[in-house]
Order: sequence, then structure tokens, then C-alpha cells
Amino acid sequence: MWMAQKGAVKTMQVLLADEFGFCFGVERAVDMVEEALGEGDTVRTLGPLIHNDQEMQRLGTHGVTVISEPVQIKRGETAVIRAHGVTPEVQRELEEKASKVVDATCPFVTRVQKLAARAAAENRHVIVVGNPEHPEMIGVKGYAPDHAFVINDESEVANLPQLNNPLVVSQTTIKLKTFLDTAEAVKGKTDDEVQVVNTICSATRDRQDAARALAGEVEAFYVIGGTHSSNSRKLLAVCKEQCEKSFLIETPLEINPADLKGVEKVGVTAGASTPKWLIDEVVERLKELGKK
Ligand code: SF4
Repeated sequence: MWMAQKGAVKTMQVLLADEFGFCFGVERAVDMVEEALGEGDTVRTLGPLIHNDQEMQRLGTHGVTVISEPVQIKRGETAVIRAHGVTPEVQRELEEKASKVVDATCPFVTRVQKLAARAAAENRHVIVVGNPEHPEMIGVKGYAPDHAFVINDESEVANLPQLNNPLVVSQTTIKLKTFLDTAEAVKGKTDDEVQVVNTICSATRDRQDAARALAGEVEAFYVIGGTHSSNSRKLLAVCKEQCEKSFLIETPLEINPADLKGVEKVGVTAGASTPKWLIDEVVERLKELGKK
């Protein structure tokens, strides 16, 4: 709140959502990489470990490098599978080439992979609600290549063939409504019972609920996260529903002071890949601006 204080200095309240920042899976992946570095390994991650350029730069200064294909890994090196997971083929290839493989696939993603593999083994169709191009979805499809369809939402259900005993699961970071609407629509594509397993992870839900609760109380909202991070973009969408002046930023340098003119309360949250040190920098910058 802008409060009249000595010398007419006004202070803007900076409010953090109840849940924000690194989720369990990302924290675990970063810890596993730090542990490998501590053992003196030459660490190479298949794709950026997390969707946060600033944290990747920090890890880079500790010797972590990124490869885009398993073929780039060499004997003597440690390959890291990130929290999104990979297909079984990619995992095998890494195990053949690297001296050591650190599998940092988030256990919640492993659960979706296992559900898909089990349904496929029973010759059932698997509908995965998510972005087909997202690495997590590419990995999950690899566990049921001939039985799985990855679709974005209910609008794509019409393109599906007639389904056999379908299982419907979700990308871990999608909106619950998208998942439920799609699962409902799938019922029109089969004569069998549809098994629906909500595999949206609670970290996403908790961050979205906390952001939603705060967005109604503030006049501006900053979501800190990579612009290519799916869960950060979803957080922005949730905030925008109630707070028009909601912004997705990667660093404090992107805060435009003009956006805070007349703002008494500003909300802050962060995507699941955003490190604490970066959140602290943004909060500090907002507090500085709030005094002016
Ligand atoms: S968002 Fe959830 S599923 Fe994804 S890495 Fe984090 S804890 Fe795991």
C-alpha cells in the first residue's frame, strides 16, 4: 500500500504468493547435478536442465554443458536426463554412450510414463492431454508409441479414431479445466469405459491457486519465469484473469517503472524453474521502486 510516511515517502506493498518458485522435481534435478559436480564428473545435460536461462548460466559457470542429441555424449562423461524425462530409446542410447547416466526424471512424470506403458501393453489407447511438442510429451509418447495420441485440448478429439478402452492422462503442467473438458469429450469416441487419471502435478496447481488468490488483491502482478516455460506462461494466464496488469519477466531489468504508477499493492510469483536468488532480486527491485 502507498502509505504516507516521514518526508512523504510512499511505500508500495510487495506481496508474494503462498506457493512459488522451484518445484520438487526441479529442485531434485538441480541437487542431482550439483551432486555429480561434487563427485568431479564432467556433466552434460540433454537439453537445458530447467527452463530458466539465468539458472542455466549459473550452472554453466560450474562446468555444466548442454547437448541436444544423445550422439554428442562421450565416454568419460556424465549424461543427465532432465525432469521432463525422455523416451526409452533415448535413455538406452545415453546409457550406451555415457560413463554414467543421472536420471533426474521427475517421479510425477515417471508415473505418467508408466501408466501409458501399462495401458499400451494391454493394447489400450492412451490419450495424453498436453502439447505434443513439449519434451515431456515426446518422452511419454515414447512409452506407448503405437497406442498414444497427444492432443492439446477437446477441439482435437474429433480427429481421433474410434478408441479401445482408452486411458486419459495429462501433461503435468496443464490447466485442470482443459484436462477435464478433453476427458469428457473423449467419451464420445469409444463404446468402452474411459479411465481418467488426473496426472497434473500439485506443484502446478498449488502455484496457480496461490497466484489466483493473490491476483484479486493487487493492481499489478509479476510472474518470474522463462518466456519458454510452459508453467510460467500458465501462471501468467491465471493472473491475467483477475489482474490486467500482469507481466511475465525473466529478470528485474524487465520491470518497467511506468507500469507501477499509482499501484499500491504488487503481487509476485514464480514458475517452477525459477531459482530463489532470482526471485529475491525481483522483490528487492520492486521494493526499491515502491519507495520512489
Ligand atoms: S512441475 Fe511437477 S511434474 Fe514438473 S518437475 Fe515440477 S514437481 Fe515434477
